[in-house]
Amino acid sequence: MSAKQTKETPDSDEQYCSSCGEIIKREAEICPECGVRHRSPPDEDDSGTELSMNAYASIGLISGAIGFVLFPVVFGPVAAFCGYQVHKHHDEKVGLAIFVFGLLSLAAGIFFGVLTWT
Ligand SMILES: [Zn+2]
Repeated sequence: MSAKQTKETPDSDEQYCSSCGEIIKREAEICPECGVRHRSPPDEDDSGTELSMNAYASIGLISGAIGFVLFPVVFGPVAAFCGYQVHKHHDEKVGLAIFVFGLLSLAAGIFFGVLTWT
């Protein structure tokens, strides 16, 4: 007895899945039919403009890489900050790695900078 619901119109608390067109609950975060996520989970305590982990990770790695050659005082902390954000909000290990990478960039950049200037 498979009483699967195949209604034509959604109720007031239902909507069409944007991916497969199945009628699903409005509260549903993930479509039970196709598994597509419909809304991201609500932000916790921080203000709305939060970058994704990939954005922070990319900025952190790029800034860290630049910091080894150019303006380590600027890009090192930026990389460390991005790593901290990733660490805090998304992934502790990846974030820590980027954070350390940023500090290394800062230290190495300053070190080589001093060598170059003197
Ligand atoms: Zn779906």
